Amino acid sequence: MKNSLIQFKPLEFESAFSSDEQCLQFLADEKWKDGYVCKKCGNTNYCKGKTEFSRRCTRCKHDESATAHTIFHRCKINLTEAFEIAYMVCSTPKISTYDLSRKLDKRQMTCWKFKKKITECIERNGEFQFIETSEE
Ligand SMILES: [Zn+2]
Repeated sequence: MKNSLIQFKPLEFESAFSSDEQCLQFLADEKWKDGYVCKKCGNTNYCKGKTEFSRRCTRCKHDESATAHTIFHRCKINLTEAFEIAYMVCSTPKISTYDLSRKLDKRQMTCWKFKKKITECIERNGEFQFIETSEE
């Protein structure tokens, strides 16, 4: 189940992703659903990392946040808003950045940039994916 975002109905989506914690939890679940493997050394044992939901390798101490290697990495906007944009773009691919900016009360440029990222991801993978496989 790759595009696990649009399986949510609008109301479900709102309650499932209304806080950063929920978004991070979701990303962590998605990312490590097949188990944790350290990106640096391949170790599968981890302990709690520096930030919430991050995981730290018990061998090399590499700390990976829940957003690292996902489309939300280094995202300039709030995670909940980023999720909302992703959700709207996935469920309504033709949605305009004007509509996004009006709905989220964000600058149009901000919405445009993130929408572009999502659209490119869909074009590259044929569907929306949280996890960036091509990027380091
Ligand atoms: Zn490691």
